[in-house]
Amino acid sequence: HDQPLDGAVALVTGASSGIGAATACRLAREGAAVALVARRRDRLDRVAGDIAMLGGEAVGLEADITEPERAEDVVQDTLDRFGRLDILVNNAGIMLLNSALHTTVQEWDRMISLNVAALLHVTHAAIPHLIYAASTSPRQVADLVNVSSTAGRVARPGSSVYGLTKSGLNAFTESLRQELLSERVRVSVVEPGTVDTELVNHLSDTVRDAARRRIDGIEALLAEDVADAIGYIVTRDRRIAINELLIRAGDQT
Ligand code: NDP
Repeated sequence: HDQPLDGAVALVTGASSGIGAATACRLAREGAAVALVARRRDRLDRVAGDIAMLGGEAVGLEADITEPERAEDVVQDTLDRFGRLDILVNNAGIMLLNSALHTTVQEWDRMISLNVAALLHVTHAAIPHLIYAASTSPRQVADLVNVSSTAGRVARPGSSVYGLTKSGLNAFTESLRQELLSERVRVSVVEPGTVDTELVNHLSDTVRDAARRRIDGIEALLAEDVADAIGYIVTRDRRIAINELLIRAGDQT
């Protein structure tokens, strides 16, 4: 039977693992053709293979989107492959928790260049195509979903610049939401709490241990839980816009 996203095309950044991979599978299950963007070719192939097994359609686009031309390319490659772009999920992100005293400015730069600059570059390239998709699709709407974090709402020691990127993303999202409203492009932000993914693998051992101690005893969310939230947002009738979705683990304060 018909799926809500039949005929729609989605681009998911950071689709080689965690929330992005789960979201790509979820959107494919709803009927969308999905472009998967990340740097690790083998992992993209694995996710594309999973989607093919579900009977869905996916293409892996290997790209480091912190290179501005590559950020534009992935949008163009999606159009070349699937002909349109209905849904953009800006999910790629990195969290290098550390105190301002002990971190390096290079760690700060890495977070700003992926969580902010790369996201802006992909978004800017995608907007005209989302507008076009909204005016031509049977859904009569297009979707832009930004993956932020509870760290964009609650500041804690060690997350100063990560929180800066995510709270900035919340402001960017709300402004874009208002700008694109009349174009029928819905702009949403999803703010997950603690999710069990590879995100913490980039931390040094001491910082990772401290982060783990803080979440000790909490049953973390699964990537699929966040993918569910994103699936919910993009499958609503065009009358309905879920602007913001804050989703924490049940035990998380
Ligand atoms: P993962 O580390 O599993 O996913 C990050 C994704 O981003 C990977 O697919 C990675 O792929 C991709 N990526 C990293 N650098 C680049 C780059 N330069 N160019 C393209 N892709 C890149 O972690 P999560 O799934 O947890 O993270 C996804 C998002 O969720 C992030 O924005 C994160 O801030 C957010 N989030 C996560 C939470 C959590 O607790 N896990 C909580 C709240 C928000 P590759 O290495 O192959 O390039």
